[in-house]
Amino acid sequence: MNRPIIVQKYGGSSVKNVERIKAVAQRVAERKTKDNDVVVVVSAMGDTTDELEALALQLNGNPPEREMDMLMSTGEQISCALLAMAVKALGRDSISFTGGQVGIKTDTSHTKARIETISGHRIKKALEENKIVIVAGYQGITDENDITTLGRGGSDLTAVALAQALKASVCEIFTDVDGIYTTDPRKVKEAKKIKTITFDEMLEMASLGAQVMQARSIEVARRFNIPIHVRSSYSKEEGTMITQGNEKLEEITVRGVTSNSSEAKITICAVPDQAGVAAKIFTEISKAGVNVDVIVQNVSHTKHTDISFTVPKVDITKAIAATKKIAKKINAGEVSFDKNIARVSIVGAGMRSYQGIAARMFKALAKAKINIEMISTSEISISCIINQDQVNKAVKTLHKEFQLEKVG
Ligand code: ADP
Ligand code: ASP
Ligand code: MG
Repeated sequence: MNRPIIVQKYGGSSVKNVERIKAVAQRVAERKTKDNDVVVVVSAMGDTTDELEALALQLNGNPPEREMDMLMSTGEQISCALLAMAVKALGRDSISFTGGQVGIKTDTSHTKARIETISGHRIKKALEENKIVIVAGYQGITDENDITTLGRGGSDLTAVALAQALKASVCEIFTDVDGIYTTDPRKVKEAKKIKTITFDEMLEMASLGAQVMQARSIEVARRFNIPIHVRSSYSKEEGTMITQGNEKLEEITVRGVTSNSSEAKITICAVPDQAGVAAKIFTEISKAGVNVDVIVQNVSHTKHTDISFTVPKVDITKAIAATKKIAKKINAGEVSFDKNIARVSIVGAGMRSYQGIAARMFKALAKAKINIEMISTSEISISCIINQDQVNKAVKTLHKEFQLEKVG
């Protein structure tokens, strides 16, 4: 017995209430035939994860990460049990498991654990018994049997990792939009659905703010070449295929526009312009456990220079403390910060071989009177840090400039 396995993942909005769980149960039951097996990964219902986090913060401003994982993982435990019950109510056999029960072993980095191995033993046994298997997303277990979570949006990662471990024939991600769009369709009504997108482009879009897929899940999909079909749980329409790509795809210059308002900017004024100073600053900040992203250093005229960089808003207090400490040590000037910034980015594999894309982006922003504070580029993306109040305008401007309403 070796039936092809279909892995499906349903996000929080797809299982937000009893009606939606019934609808998903129906869909899952239809997908399971005598010729194939179905393994379903579910997220927590609706906004449960956010609500659990808010609850924790009412009791402890800095909740211990191990306890956060104990708490946050319960959301998925609720939805997987309910979905298994709903499937059984349709007269089909089903069983739910936590991440730990199906042997998703992780390291001990609570709240952002990395999957090390997946045994999948219990899944295989249940499939042999012809059951529809429902797995709680977003979680794993350490060697010490402590529960861990895989970072926000981590159910996507559970699905892709299970698809790899079980050698599934298909990995389908069901969400509340019917595919990947040129930009967030909830913010820009001209956004167009994209039929196929490469792993590289999707990874870049996800890392730069398109929340529709967790970036880490795309990294795994790319590493093991697991094609992903992102589609709506509300319709039967075909969605977007995320694959390795082909020549034709690469011809498209700009695929999408993303934005992200989760970073803040820190500036150190009058930094002595000497070898080793940048190393000292960023070593101190990294020791504080803060990830630095865009860095800009001004040209020095008076043997002093200003250095600005961005850090996650959630780490701003830690980052400022570390920056002030090192600024004093190296005899730099004042440290200031700005939380009211956002990043707007354009992404596209075709950028590798086209010139003038950056100039067009900057010109379009200038015409819309949007000031660029910092710039960062990768091989297939360009990002500008701008004032947060102008972010929606910037996304719309760039979507129009690159005529994304015409592609897809
Ligand atoms: P789920 O609960 O299914 O995991 P998420 O809320 O994590 O769903 O992701 C889906 C949301 O991602 C959509 O509702 C949409 O607003 C947002 N989104 C942001 N950028 C894009 C994009 N480029 N294409 C599609 N959706 C996007
Ligand atoms: N429930 C988790 C979250 O909201 C995991 C997920 O939905 O993928 O981040
Ligand atoms: Mg999600």
